[in-house]
Amino acid sequence: MNKEKLKKFKKLFDSQRQSLLFNDRIVREDFGVCSDDRYDEVDQATTDCEQSMRMRLRNRESLYIKKVEEALRRIEEGTFGECDACGEDIELRRLEARPTATLCVSCKEEQERKESFHASGREHKSMGEAFSRKYA
Ligand SMILES: [Zn+2]
Repeated sequence: MNKEKLKKFKKLFDSQRQSLLFNDRIVREDFGVCSDDRYDEVDQATTDCEQSMRMRLRNRESLYIKKVEEALRRIEEGTFGECDACGEDIELRRLEARPTATLCVSCKEEQERKESFHASGREHKSMGEAFSRKYA
C-alpha cells in the first residue's frame, strides 16, 4: 500500500478513536447518574433496562475501539492491509468499505463459512456469560 493511502487510513482511525474515547467518557458519566438512582424502586426497572442498553452499546464500542487500535498498530508495524491468514494484500476496495478488516475477501468468506456452522450456539453462550458476569 502506498504512503498516501496509508496516511489516509491512519487519519481515519485516529479520528475514529478520538470520537470513541469521547463517547466512552459520556457513557461513564451517565453510569454515575444511573447508579445513584438505583435504589429508587419505582424507577428500578427502567434504570436496569437503560443500563443494559448502554452496556450493550458500550461493549460494541469497546470492541470496535480495539479493532481501531489494532489497525493503528498494524499501520505502525507496516503490516496494515495484509491478510492475517494468507499474507496477501487485502483488496483496497474492501479496506475502504471496512477499514478495520484484517482478512482478504476469500479468507473472510472461508472464516464466515466456518463461523456460521457454530454461530448460533456460541453467540448465545457469550451473551449468557456477559449476563451472569453482570448480575452474579
Ligand atoms: Zn487471505
